Amino acid sequence: RLPGIGRRSAERIAYHVLAAPTDEAMALAVAVRDVKRNLHPCAVCGDLTEKERCAICDDSRRETGTICVVEWPREVRAIEKSGEFRGRYHVLMGRLSPLSGVGPGDLRIGVLIERVKAGDVSEVVLATSPTVEGDATAAYLTRRLHEDAAGVTVTRLARGLPAGSDLSFAQSGTIGEALKGRK
Ligand code: ZN
Repeated sequence: RLPGIGRRSAERIAYHVLAAPTDEAMALAVAVRDVKRNLHPCAVCGDLTEKERCAICDDSRRETGTICVVEWPREVRAIEKSGEFRGRYHVLMGRLSPLSGVGPGDLRIGVLIERVKAGDVSEVVLATSPTVEGDATAAYLTRRLHEDAAGVTVTRLARGLPAGSDLSFAQSGTIGEALKGRK
């Protein structure tokens, strides 16, 4: 039932747990239990944390003027790994998806607008996924921010070629995006 784990991998993991020392197997069980018991959304950004506010929202060295909007908590981790972003985050918990019945009211959009209006935010970086739904979500957020929080700069992550790969392996759509976003 876990993503990315097929029948054969599941079997290997099951036998591994059976053969493992009791302590090790129980530690795994406790870790699974604690994830559900202790992790909850940060009161400010919606990222997962064990406290009231997450470590990033609590870190006074992070810039308060820039908010990066992502769809899911795992994307906060991905952007943090790049080491290029020093602002704060806002997790939407999904993206607009009319076909799956996900509308603006189902996402953490209202609280984002309130955050931008309340604070000294000068830029909102939209880091929604480069898909039709991610683009629609970004377009919707851009409109809402311009309507409700005039004066704030709304930007979007550049799209293009993955670093370290060969140009000839890239899809034509990706090359087209990279050409449009050239600088
Ligand atoms: Zn937070």
